[in-house]
Amino acid sequence: ATLPYDETNIFARILRGEIPAKTVYEDDFALAFHDINPQAPTHILVIPKGAYVSWDDFSTHAPDAEIAGFIRAVGHVAREAGLVEPGYRLLANIGGHGHQEVPHLHVHIFGGRPLGPMLA
Ligand code: 5GP
Repeated sequence: ATLPYDETNIFARILRGEIPAKTVYEDDFALAFHDINPQAPTHILVIPKGAYVSWDDFSTHAPDAEIAGFIRAVGHVAREAGLVEPGYRLLANIGGHGHQEVPHLHVHIFGGRPLGPMLA
């Protein structure tokens, strides 16, 4: 079962403008900003504007327009960051075994260096 959405999570606060973020892109469906603790030269987080705990919650409960808008936003941000030609990595952590730390769906975009093989 999906956890109830916690309105006090840090990304909800960023969406409400209560705490600052280095925004790189925003539209009706998504907000993208630099990760506060970057793991690569480019490390951007993209979040849906709707209140979804995880990929599981989003993929089961979000309207099709929100899903399409979010996925297009992730691609747009990576493209605008110049990552398409060199290549990049998308990652979403889900739940406990996935080591998800913030309970609002986010997709990590990593790039700017060769990333090596996927780690377990
Ligand atoms: P997770 O493990 O949940 O997939 O990743 C959470 C990510 O959010 C981490 O990479 C962490 O550095 C980032 N993060 C946590 N708090 C903040 C914050 O207040 N601002 C920004 N920009 N990133 C944050």
